Amino acid sequence: MFSHETTRGKEEKVARIVIAGNWKMHKTIGESVVFASNLRETLADQADLPEIIVAPPFTALHAVSAVISGSSIALAAQNIHEADRGAFTGEISGLMAKEAGCSHVIIGHSERRTLFGETNERINRKLLTALAAGLNPIFCVGETLPEREENRIEEVIEKQLKEGLNNLDDSVISRILVAYEPVWAIGTGKTASPAQAQEVHDFIRSWTAGKYGKDAAEETVILYGGSVTPQNISALMSQPDINGALVGGASLQVESFVEIVKYKSNQGV
Ligand code: PEP
Repeated sequence: MFSHETTRGKEEKVARIVIAGNWKMHKTIGESVVFASNLRETLADQADLPEIIVAPPFTALHAVSAVISGSSIALAAQNIHEADRGAFTGEISGLMAKEAGCSHVIIGHSERRTLFGETNERINRKLLTALAAGLNPIFCVGETLPEREENRIEEVIEKQLKEGLNNLDDSVISRILVAYEPVWAIGTGKTASPAQAQEVHDFIRSWTAGKYGKDAAEETVILYGGSVTPQNISALMSQPDINGALVGGASLQVESFVEIVKYKSNQGV
């Protein structure tokens, strides 16, 4: 489907691998703290782990931040408002998320796009605000099922990338993690096949190379999200342009999240 040249040899992967858990609107403060403590304890002394990020609900950010402080687990907010402060009842700013202990923020998740009407233009403003606040965005893109069936995947993803990354200083591209999340695979149990995911990841990397240069594209972390489980993570991670995963449902139990995080040691088991 994608006829463009790939940007690099398929045998080499960027060194960074990132596994992020998006808890959505799940877990109380107490449950979040228990989860984070268990995760920290379970992963202590484990070698060769990917970078790990958890994204609890806003209410639990500060408490989870205290629990994971000094560990290699990083904290993400699931959303921010595009303004730094103001009369925006019910919203929180990037600066507030940063102060609560976040190093990352998920921007443009498909649930924000579809349920809360977030446009590419608004997502762009949120990305710029996040970067200015010192947060590293996990920038989500992905097509719906009708868009896939109409063969519009490249067109949709390119528009999301182009408009979402508008006005971005080239030097900050290295701070952005792109998450390819086909909307039809999120929370549905229908995961993209490794080959389907790889095709789109390859397109994203090629687009990034065209816009920001080959070196920047090679460094860009591109996560796959959509019904990732301990069973399918290894096959997905065997693809050359998949640098990690954004996990929803399977990130809610320590056991399944740890199995995903430790996919390397489970290979061939
Ligand atoms: C997500 O919410 O980003 C996600 C990928 O969810 P799930 O893993 O449940 O499909």
